[in-house]
Amino acid sequence: MSIKAQKGTKDILPLEIINWQNIEKAASEVFSKANFKEIRTPIFEDTALFERGVGDTTDIVNKEMYTFVKSDRSITLRPENTAGVVRAYLEHNMFRESPPVKLWYKGPMFRYERPQAGRQRQFHQIGVEMFGIQDASADAECILLATEFLKKIGLSDLVVEINSLGCNVCRKEYKEQLKEAIAPFLEELCDDCKSRYEKNPLRILDCKNEDCNKLFEEYNLRNKVSGIKLCPECFEHYKKLKMYLDALNIKYIENTFLVRGLDYYTKTVFEIKSNNLGSQNAVCGGGRYDGLVETLGGPHTPAVGWAMGVERLNSLIPQLEYSKIDYFVVSDNQIEAVKLASKLREKGYSVEFDHNFRKFSKQLEKASKIANKAIILGEDEIKNNYLTIKNLETSEQEKVLFENIIT
Ligand code: ATP
Ligand code: MG
Repeated sequence: MSIKAQKGTKDILPLEIINWQNIEKAASEVFSKANFKEIRTPIFEDTALFERGVGDTTDIVNKEMYTFVKSDRSITLRPENTAGVVRAYLEHNMFRESPPVKLWYKGPMFRYERPQAGRQRQFHQIGVEMFGIQDASADAECILLATEFLKKIGLSDLVVEINSLGCNVCRKEYKEQLKEAIAPFLEELCDDCKSRYEKNPLRILDCKNEDCNKLFEEYNLRNKVSGIKLCPECFEHYKKLKMYLDALNIKYIENTFLVRGLDYYTKTVFEIKSNNLGSQNAVCGGGRYDGLVETLGGPHTPAVGWAMGVERLNSLIPQLEYSKIDYFVVSDNQIEAVKLASKLREKGYSVEFDHNFRKFSKQLEKASKIANKAIILGEDEIKNNYLTIKNLETSEQEKVLFENIIT
């Protein structure tokens, strides 16, 4: 039996790769204009990095990690890249640089999830992280970067949702309020929600289980809790963020139920959603994580960032097509054809020739499918040192001196 790609993984085929390259190029261009530098961290890390960094009440750590043991070490394929970037930031003393330190990444992530539309086990993210700035201008810059990047790849009609999760102080009262509102139907919720109830009740709002979501409606949860009552500092930060977003003309919706699936967020959280993606509708998730660098053993460092799912972005973009190559060398002189193709490539043209050196008519047929122009290099051309160039669009032909095209 032939071996197939693993469930939840996909080959990205040559016909699809143009979109990927286009997306990655746009990311690099947009981010470098804001002075973000690319970082590439390893695909596997010490399991403890994610347990500590992502948080042990998250689905990612509890259920979705690809973990294995090698030489008595527990290793995990990265399920996300913020923890890895923070590890690198600390390991290479980037906190000694004058802030902000602005980094971006792209690459595969691994989560053991049920594969479905918009959800794979190996998927790809593009993300940014910005370290060292407490002011909400950093949050705004990250959100702006996301919307600019989306605009550049042709997605300007997406919805930005924002919220503030406050700090531990403001969250304390809210957690109690939530627990009180949830208590009457706690027994009916899924096992995950039951365990979140004590450990991290906020995360109940992020439950993906449809039955739980129905219960939230039935018990009118959304009207029973007011949202987090922010302390003065967090309130100011959130207000300032909205001022920046208004000034930048970024449209947003405030969603007091937006909590995000990771434990490390503080103050600002945001998601960018599309109405054309069905139930897996988020293309971007992010927020501020002022405690994470410290949690992972570094100095207190405010930070903010986001990650986008490239497969989901790609599914919103029409498939681009390859443009035709510049020249197809049509010849029955194998040596001269190979030489000419290589010379033209050196000059910067994209060139192909027929490795089977079939009849001219067959070669021209192939040429008209893949090239803009055919260069005919027959016996007469070689003898008299010229080339016949045929425009395959218009069928016009011209004779050009060999030197004129090569030099
Ligand atoms: P979701 O709620 O869809 O599970 P998440 O909160 O787990 O998303 P993040 O960890 O914030 O997602 O990752 C950021 C983005 O990465 C998501 O908005 C989504 O576009 C993409 N993403 C996350 N998990 C997957 C997956 N399994 N397959 C494809 N894309 C994914
Ligand atoms: Mg998820």
